[in-house]
Amino acid sequence: MTNSPLAHRLEGFGASIFAEMTALAVQTGAINLGQGFPDYDGPPEVLRIAQEQIALGNNQYPPGIGVADLRQAVSVHQKRFWGLEYDPNSEILITVGASEAIAASLLGLLNDGDEVVVFEPLFDTYAGLTSLGGAVLKPVTLRPQPDGRYTFDETELAQAFSSKTRVILLNSPHNPTGTVFTTEELSIIARQAIERDLIVISDEVYEHLVFDNAVHVPIATLPGMHERTITISSGGKSFNVTGWKIGWACAPAHLVNAVRMAKQLFTFAGGTPFQVAITAGLRLPDEYFSTLAADLQEKRDMLTNALSAAGFVPIKPEGTYFITADISNRWPHLNSLEFCQQLPHACGVVAIPASVLYHPTHATEGTHLVRFAFCKQLSTIHEASERLVNWK
Ligand code: PMP
Ligand code: GLN
Repeated sequence: MTNSPLAHRLEGFGASIFAEMTALAVQTGAINLGQGFPDYDGPPEVLRIAQEQIALGNNQYPPGIGVADLRQAVSVHQKRFWGLEYDPNSEILITVGASEAIAASLLGLLNDGDEVVVFEPLFDTYAGLTSLGGAVLKPVTLRPQPDGRYTFDETELAQAFSSKTRVILLNSPHNPTGTVFTTEELSIIARQAIERDLIVISDEVYEHLVFDNAVHVPIATLPGMHERTITISSGGKSFNVTGWKIGWACAPAHLVNAVRMAKQLFTFAGGTPFQVAITAGLRLPDEYFSTLAADLQEKRDMLTNALSAAGFVPIKPEGTYFITADISNRWPHLNSLEFCQQLPHACGVVAIPASVLYHPTHATEGTHLVRFAFCKQLSTIHEASERLVNWK
């Protein structure tokens, strides 16, 4: 075979930066603040239920749409935290992580030549999946305001739409900038969606990880949006079990059906014992969710201060467990990829170059931005902070 066997639709997409940077951390023994996964475990009662379920023999396929009790728990969770109502039998689909929910939403909805409006920097799978769906990504760049917070320009957003736009793919709280979109910002997006009769795929995996006075608002709660929004989340971030990959999509039945048509071709279903355990997680008291955010906030503050002291200009995130920081004050001669390749050797810490989270034609937007994950034990964040501050 002389030519590359890779499908044209996957040309130009490199290997996952998260895998690459974690491999670098393993190879160098550096502290891994790159890929976003906790170095601590989920709630003991949730872990115990998964172990019990395996021991009890609950190890065969779950129903294609997910374990009934989990769909019930997702429905109650959406009502309890956000006031959103979904019928557990027809409007909720359990998926293999939020990743599969996003993939199945895009591939279940998109036709050749459709356009997908998305904010960048963006989560890495969005671009490749849009291409797999035969569609075209229309990125709108988030930029820092005078106070350092990243947001979009309303005119630039309006210019991203055309008669071919089919979907808006939204992520709030936003990875990697940490912006939690306000009701005003969401209203601007919603107005476009309603006027143009679009579908919104809303990736809300960090829904419980918000700090200070920031409030997470699901776009489906805005007037006219419930009927056109697929709201996606996952147990990975809320229960510190990223390897379990139990996610869900909530939407009116006709939209969930489209997602399910694609999803059944990917994995059909998976993770039976973990679905039962996440059910218990979703039923934990409010205090569990508020403590989760409060613990992370302390780590955010420690790492933000250390990054400032080390000569970075960090964006203090309103949500998620990532801090994106500008390196150009102290390292103007390095781009973020070079910087992240050198950082483990020079200082014993791993980060993610944010430049790869931009559309290839906009990569210069992120030339000086790197992302650090702070979902680590306080002692890990403390040690990483010491290394960064004392780095000569
Ligand atoms: N969306 C965003 C914005 C993420 O950061 C992640 C983290 N991996 C995912 C989706 C995927 O979630 P999951 O691990 O549940 O597939
Ligand atoms: N969501 C995590 C991150 O952004 C992990 C992504 C991944 O490993 N694919 O780092």
